[in-house]
Amino acid sequence: MWVEALDTVLERLKNTNLDFSKIVAVSGSAQQHGSVYWKKGVSTILASLDSKKPLVDQLSGAFSVNESPIWMDCSTTVQCRAIEKVVGGALELSKLTGSCAHERYAGPQIRKIFETQPEVYENTERISLVSSFMASLLIGEYACIDHTDGAGMNLMNIESREWSEKALQATAPDLERRLGRLAPAYAVSGLISKYNVERYNFNRDCLIIQWSGDNPNSLAGLTLNTPGDIAISLGTSDTLFGVATEHKPSLEGHTFPSPVDTENYMVMLVYKNGSLTREDIRNRYADHSWDVFNAYLQQTPPLNGGKMGFYYKEHEILPPLPIGEHRCILENFANVSLSGLKERWVTEFDAPSEVRALIEGQLLSMRAHAARLGLPSPPRRIVATGGASANECILSLMASIFGCDVYTVQRPDSASLGAALRAAHGWLCHKNGAFVPIESLYMDKLEQTSLNCKLSARAGDPQLVAKYTMLMIKRAEIENDLVRRLGRS
Ligand code: ADP
Repeated sequence: MWVEALDTVLERLKNTNLDFSKIVAVSGSAQQHGSVYWKKGVSTILASLDSKKPLVDQLSGAFSVNESPIWMDCSTTVQCRAIEKVVGGALELSKLTGSCAHERYAGPQIRKIFETQPEVYENTERISLVSSFMASLLIGEYACIDHTDGAGMNLMNIESREWSEKALQATAPDLERRLGRLAPAYAVSGLISKYNVERYNFNRDCLIIQWSGDNPNSLAGLTLNTPGDIAISLGTSDTLFGVATEHKPSLEGHTFPSPVDTENYMVMLVYKNGSLTREDIRNRYADHSWDVFNAYLQQTPPLNGGKMGFYYKEHEILPPLPIGEHRCILENFANVSLSGLKERWVTEFDAPSEVRALIEGQLLSMRAHAARLGLPSPPRRIVATGGASANECILSLMASIFGCDVYTVQRPDSASLGAALRAAHGWLCHKNGAFVPIESLYMDKLEQTSLNCKLSARAGDPQLVAKYTMLMIKRAEIENDLVRRLGRS
């Protein structure tokens, strides 16, 4: 399917009479975590493809696993626990690789294939991620895995950016040879292959820059490049990611090397309860209407008079809590000090307070977890994306709670835009013979480009931010308590 997709994209571009010979560099964005298994002997086929035929006709027998595991696969819990055990625990694995073991990550997926289909593992000469797989099709040989996507495998040492011997051994035997080398996201994968030159009239000097995952490409496309830059995507799931200067191991987030520079990290948090939970509260308390929902946000006071809610319509990852709703009112809230605050549990609030408790709660949780993972607080700026970023009341609350300006972008497709930008970045670094900061591509020129952001909400009043800080600390305490009482292991 992926091979055919590339054929289709390039054929369609050809049919628009695009002059491929003018393209100097290509990079790409592929879904994170998916893995591809090449059969023994395929490197020779890849290097000698017939440009008169589509790729799909020539590569149908190239894979030892026909259905690639992707990010939605959650069948490897046993392997996750086993890998963590070998390296000395979940936190130790997070310290080593940037994340504790996750079912969708390529390492546990590889271990499962090795355990359940040893003959398939034996017959595999190379394992690619979807990103390096697509780059391989463009260069006609196996491409390296880039540092950022490589960190989403539970196999790479996050500090040295090399394969971790310990993690490899915990996963499967003789694995390093099958993974090939790692490379920075801005490195050249190779020159475009003879096949693509002949078939599409690419210039033979066209550079293929390392492909990477969709979230890292979004970071590039949203022009996040400085520590303290944060993006919050309010979609079906809510995602927060940003640039941090250090790696703080934790059980709850993900740390990758930044895809746009040599030193910093990309930190990411994923919440399962995003828009569908907001819609649920809107439907139950605000007449199914975003207008009523927003009117409630406007008529209730900041801090909600100490009314605090925890809404999990889905099993939540962050914190790991089961489906359920919890509401409390903080007593002595007017005191503005943490010491006297005591929570009184209740079953329901008035409708307007429910709406504010939901949004304040989601944003306070993001702020607390982001700080715990090493993202600067307050952030330098937030770029909001996703369906709910159309809601100005939510953006205004975000600015008040985080204490920084909130921007929105002009275009929805930040991942593909980021890939194009990274292609230019890789090309520039190659031309200079050394790393060049990515912002030199667009500094002082953003207004004229589709990368431009619009200021949508100004940072809140510092006194209010300080009060939200107090509420955030209290909320984190209550959250920990809920996890102790109800949490899933
Ligand atoms: P996905 O993650 O599936 O790509 P989107 O980023 O497209 O989702 O976001 C879709 C969601 O945006 C819808 O589920 C809807 O709840 C939400 N949404 C749309 N408009 C508003 C609004 N004005 N206020 C809050 N949420 C909104």
